Amino acid sequence: MNRLYNALQLKRLYQLKQLGIRYVPLVEKRNAPATTLPNDLEALERIVAECRLCALCKTRTKTVFGEGDPNASLMFVGEGPGAQEDMTGRPFVGRAGELLTKMIENAIEIPRSSVYIANIVKCRPPNNRVPTPEEAYTCLPFLMKQIEIVSPKVVVALGATAYHYLTGDKSGITKVRGEVVDMGAYKLIPTYHPSYLLRNPSAKKEVYQDLLKIKRLLCEN
Ligand code: SF4
Repeated sequence: MNRLYNALQLKRLYQLKQLGIRYVPLVEKRNAPATTLPNDLEALERIVAECRLCALCKTRTKTVFGEGDPNASLMFVGEGPGAQEDMTGRPFVGRAGELLTKMIENAIEIPRSSVYIANIVKCRPPNNRVPTPEEAYTCLPFLMKQIEIVSPKVVVALGATAYHYLTGDKSGITKVRGEVVDMGAYKLIPTYHPSYLLRNPSAKKEVYQDLLKIKRLLCEN
């Protein structure tokens, strides 16, 4: 809950910065409500569909909110939509998405429809570039709210960008891959992004070990 509140505060600061305000005195509100975002995925998706809070709204075709089981125990978080996701409005539908589906269904042995999949930013960064901190922090409260609503047991951060914005840790993905991070309400495991695996197939062995670890975590009480 605190992480969502902090993310919302950061989003407001970035919005003010985009309006040209360079200094904002921080007023501490200890009892402020954690969020004004709805506790309902469909209502949240409608807000995202209309969102124009960062520059990515100018180049998107469709917002990519996320999809899957709203009561999933397992959630995957990627960086942002690619070209096919931007066209369809669905996360992980290109070649990387096909590989993610195989990872879920062949290694964890559950159907893709039983997990929830989302991204750090809901609109495609031009040319698939990494989202800027302004874009990521502006969008992050939507993801925090999705995690709060779905309430998964395990969140898998796919790649360095997802890991960085979910944990605040800037360590490289090679260093932290496969580590279990206790996030309080859930366990987080970073692993390589499927796009990286398409370029570096030899890393699939390490990811397979991570997927087995995720499977074990899901079985624990
Ligand atoms: S990336 Fe997120 S914050 Fe930016 S316009 Fe899209 S939905 Fe809004």
